[in-house]
Amino acid sequence: MGKIDKNEILSILDGYDKENVTIATLGSHTSIHILKGAKEEGFRTAVVCEKGREVPYQRFEVADEFILVDKFKDIINEDVQQKLRDMNAIVIPHGSFVAYAGLDNVEDKFNVPMFGNRDILRWEAERDLERKLIIESDIRMPYKYDDPSKIDRTVMVKFPGARGGRGYFVASTPEEFNEKINVMLKKNWIEEEDIKEAHIEEYVAGCNYCIHYFYSALNDEVEVMGMDTRFESSIDGLVRIPAKDQLEIGLEPSYVVTGNHPVVIRESLLPQVFENGDKLVETAKKMVAPGMNGPFCLQCFCNEDLELVIFEMSARTDGGTNTFMDSSPYSYMKFGEFMSMGRRISREIKNAIEQDKLDVIIT
Ligand code: ADP
Repeated sequence: MGKIDKNEILSILDGYDKENVTIATLGSHTSIHILKGAKEEGFRTAVVCEKGREVPYQRFEVADEFILVDKFKDIINEDVQQKLRDMNAIVIPHGSFVAYAGLDNVEDKFNVPMFGNRDILRWEAERDLERKLIIESDIRMPYKYDDPSKIDRTVMVKFPGARGGRGYFVASTPEEFNEKINVMLKKNWIEEEDIKEAHIEEYVAGCNYCIHYFYSALNDEVEVMGMDTRFESSIDGLVRIPAKDQLEIGLEPSYVVTGNHPVVIRESLLPQVFENGDKLVETAKKMVAPGMNGPFCLQCFCNEDLELVIFEMSARTDGGTNTFMDSSPYSYMKFGEFMSMGRRISREIKNAIEQDKLDVIIT
């Protein structure tokens, strides 16, 4: 089965009643403020939700319609897609939508108009493509090692699929790498054949900033919407233990995000923040046409040389936007009114409908 043809999506969109568009998303991740923002911009809203998990959308009163499914992945089922099309739905993708629906299904089978650029989702999901886009943009990333024997400083080792969980570790020499790999093999956290998949990168000892941008394809402008930093288990708990006890108890750290907190960056770093966003958008236009479209996020560490080192990119709304469900200092600065990422998305859709340019922002 081939990729969904944009013309198919545009013909579905042609049949929509543009006065009665529904903003829909999967009930998880950032859906509360996506839906709230849509209501603030005057849209009807719908949530596709796993049975038993509808309570937040009822209690926060953000969804006009509920499409209840047995499993989140059922959003891909033809009957659910038909319900969405029947309500003139534009679907807003987020991290959980892509994870549950499956990237292949989003590319090949999800025949519902979506906000953003469908093709760019693969570029954030695959580490090599992500790196290509960032390096091509001339943005600083952690140095990557192609062989553990070359480890000459502290590195972070990541395994595909681990996604911040068990299986990320820090090492400073090839010997330490091998020791830790052996521990992981013993604990069955990895298999022998996973070793060659190890992604080894320079450990950046810096402060974490996740920067949430919005690229308006209608205005050709990159906006800085907000920033967050993360609480991660078990590492954040581990560093509360005195160093000598840390050594004795021998706990293996993991880096599972459990929450986010809003943050602002020192003002002198803002030129770098804007420059990175602008550069990425220009490269994406060339490498994954039409490029970025809507929210994206650059996760970085700021090192002691005040350099922003990017270790991860999202090419859709990132979970950290939940830190500004109402507004952030930056989005308020830009818009002079409360503006969440969810509301910004719906504002773009509203503007596109008014200007008869939905084809520019829908995929
Ligand atoms: P995931 O894909 O699971 O989100 P990330 O690549 O974002 O994994 O990394 C998870 C966490 O690991 C980060 O939030 C950060 O705390 C830590 N981390 C990742 N890469 C590095 C690095 N190069 N240097 C230091 N810490 C890192």
